[in-house]
Amino acid sequence: MKILVVGSGGREHALSWKLAQSERVQTVFVAPGNGGTARDARLVNVEITDPAALADFVVAENIALTLVGPEAPLAAGIVNLFRARGLKVFGPTKEAAQLESSKDFAKAFMQRHGIPTAKYQSFSDAAQAHAYIDANGAPIVIKADGLAAGKGVVVAMSLEEAHAAVDHMLSDNAFGDAGARIVIEEFLAGEEASFIVMCDGKNILPLATSQDHKRLKDADEGPNTGGMGAYSPAPIVTPSMHARVMREIINPTIQGMAKDGIVFTGFLYAGLMIDADGNPRTLEFNCRMGDPETQPIMARLKSDFLQVVEHACNGTLDAVELEWDRRTAVGVVMAAAGYPDNPRKGDIIDGIPAETPECVTFHAGTTQVGGTLQTNGGRVLCVVGLGDSVKMAQKQAYETVEKIHFNGAQYRRDIGWRGVK
Ligand code: ATP
Repeated sequence: MKILVVGSGGREHALSWKLAQSERVQTVFVAPGNGGTARDARLVNVEITDPAALADFVVAENIALTLVGPEAPLAAGIVNLFRARGLKVFGPTKEAAQLESSKDFAKAFMQRHGIPTAKYQSFSDAAQAHAYIDANGAPIVIKADGLAAGKGVVVAMSLEEAHAAVDHMLSDNAFGDAGARIVIEEFLAGEEASFIVMCDGKNILPLATSQDHKRLKDADEGPNTGGMGAYSPAPIVTPSMHARVMREIINPTIQGMAKDGIVFTGFLYAGLMIDADGNPRTLEFNCRMGDPETQPIMARLKSDFLQVVEHACNGTLDAVELEWDRRTAVGVVMAAAGYPDNPRKGDIIDGIPAETPECVTFHAGTTQVGGTLQTNGGRVLCVVGLGDSVKMAQKQAYETVEKIHFNGAQYRRDIGWRGVK
């Protein structure tokens, strides 16, 4: 069987790596892929912003199933187009993907269906937004409504920062249409966790839990990034917390979508904030797997992933019982010089060791140039170590990280620290 994975990041490398392990998979294609996916898959030179061209490729190659990694093609309706052409694809429709593509939509949806989240109001008028900030005080959180590749959120610790964020988004038009409307919401304190499920329209299958590290520097300092590392499982999501999140957040979300006339298929990712009293609230929804959460999650998945995705496409996820490696997986992102503002490309990467049962390196911003591997984006690699404790998994990951070299490499030395604590 031939499979297509859409995307070029570490997430897509991990998905294609896992799919390639399935006995029934003949070839995994990745569009456009990166310098490392070539090891497990065949690269396809088609833009992910051109779903019609991807569909043509799927028909021409007789590909049985397509899995979509990133949010942009989902929000643009790749699933709608594939289904209209009778092609099997796993992901949400454009309508369902609004849970991620519009924060205003997601907040109104949560309010309407009683799903716990921060109090908010949305604005397109700057004067009204400034007045709301003055009335509510800081800290306060300002979010561009649309997709902004993780850059559209400002957690403002002071009134000045909050007002500046409003000016940047509404008056200076920094995010174009994506920031023409903004959401201003209550600051929530606590510990974050990533809670990801698969949904086939009726049945919900939770994946292993995980925790991302958004800040560039150790001890959660420095600017926000796409994610500097993740580990799985997240100890804060105890079995009782898991049951509560399913009951209070995940089930009402899928049911709420159905009540609103939208059948949800695909990955649903709830970004949670769990407060000091143990109450979970939803910070955001994503309609896809997280990056870098996918890398440690796939490293722990023991079940045949192709079979799981097939069940998800056929509406039979209730027949699936996932099997997980009991070990902890810690994924450390190695980023390029200048990341996140201005990542440098073209540094030569060497020293990546072969995969072992304890450690695997997934590629993201890499490319092969005439026989050498070079940096080609902000997040370059994600090194995933597995061990019987967070500490042992860290040891596996960091031993490998230290063997890998490219000029200007940046990485955190404390991925998984909450799990150690
Ligand atoms: P992603 O890169 O995950 O797609 P995003 O742009 O959709 O991010 P959010 O996940 O909504 O943005 O917010 C990014 C980060 O900002 C969160 O992970 C969290 O650390 C912080 N954050 C968001 N909302 C709040 C809030 N209400 N209170 C405190 N921190 C928040």
